Amino acid sequence: MPERPPLKSVTLLKEIMGRYYAGAEEAKASGRPVVWMTAVSPVEIVVAMGLFPYYPENFGTLVASKKLTHEYSHEAEAAGFFPDLCGYARAGLGDWLREEHPAGRLVPPDVVVCCNAQCHSLPKWFEVSARWHSAPYFLLDTPLITEETQKEAVDYFHEQLLELIRFLEAATGRRFSLNRLVETMDLANRACRLWKEILEMAALRPAPFSFFDACIHMGPIVTWRGRELAVEYYRRLKAELEECVARGEYPVPEEKYRLYWDHIVIWPRIRWLSEFFARHQALVACSQYTHAWAREFDLTRPLESLAETYAREFVNHSFERRVEFKLALMRRFRVDGFILFSNRSCKPCSLGLYDKRRLLMERAGIPGIVLETDMADLRYFNETQVAERLEMLFEQLEGGQRT
Ligand code: SF4
Repeated sequence: MPERPPLKSVTLLKEIMGRYYAGAEEAKASGRPVVWMTAVSPVEIVVAMGLFPYYPENFGTLVASKKLTHEYSHEAEAAGFFPDLCGYARAGLGDWLREEHPAGRLVPPDVVVCCNAQCHSLPKWFEVSARWHSAPYFLLDTPLITEETQKEAVDYFHEQLLELIRFLEAATGRRFSLNRLVETMDLANRACRLWKEILEMAALRPAPFSFFDACIHMGPIVTWRGRELAVEYYRRLKAELEECVARGEYPVPEEKYRLYWDHIVIWPRIRWLSEFFARHQALVACSQYTHAWAREFDLTRPLESLAETYAREFVNHSFERRVEFKLALMRRFRVDGFILFSNRSCKPCSLGLYDKRRLLMERAGIPGIVLETDMADLRYFNETQVAERLEMLFEQLEGGQRT
């Protein structure tokens, strides 16, 4: 079977992401308010109000992919920020403090909106940045979800959405329209459905698409969600992948193993990782990280549905529920093993991973490892150690080890 050539959609992806960054600069220049948003927050409200949503975490991935996080971090550390802070935060803080901007600049906010469903690094990073830029700051607070029907948590979030709308109207002078919100959520639904269909193609055997592809192509579902451009992009990407299947072209043509990767990829070493797994004839098929954007809103109850969706972000659940989410994906994609990523940058996703590993091995009956490194900062990446740890997993898989 032929190896799949690089996807042509990458050219369009670069164009779209370029438009996003240029769009932020244009918005700033023309007086259209730039709203800093966390990746998992109800951007649909901001889009519906005609504001420009801007994602500093995405800037963090850009700096990391260019292998520059440690350089940006030097400025942040010199200003007193701790090197154990999330690498995205150090990149963002460092960018404001440094004079050179080889990754382009982080566009200053007019308004800052932070949702703490993901972690507690973002609220502090955004709060400091709001202070530096004299921008009004709104924190969407999200209680931990321990049960599916935790109504009071969703009600609490819903009330804050109403407050957020009043805050944005007051801060920007723009009016909110429920009809416009429903249109935006409809576009978000269409892009999210296509994204889900694309991710689910990795369940085919062999698969035309891997987790590493998903990491590269997830930019538009984050930055352009709620707009036609994201729908169009994923329509084209899906069509290209269908053509790959028709031609029999796959990233790992002779798939021997399928694996689950937990959470974020190691951005500066994505190519190295993808080649490493391909050499072992292993397809990394799925991850909760990329599936988190496969959302579906109920357009008949827009604000309630936004509250339910964003309060229930996968990382904002109890330990047991998160284990079960991982297990469900592992079963659906019929993986042979798993990698849990203890990410020095991301404390909430790294907590309790050795216990999770034990539980997942018991319940799924497959081997798994914990990889300890960083998603962004190469000072904490040791290629030999990472390769040795991954080789351990392949030895277990070669030996047919079931737990
Ligand atoms: S990587 Fe983790 S710590 Fe950093 S912003 Fe994302 S969720 Fe927060």
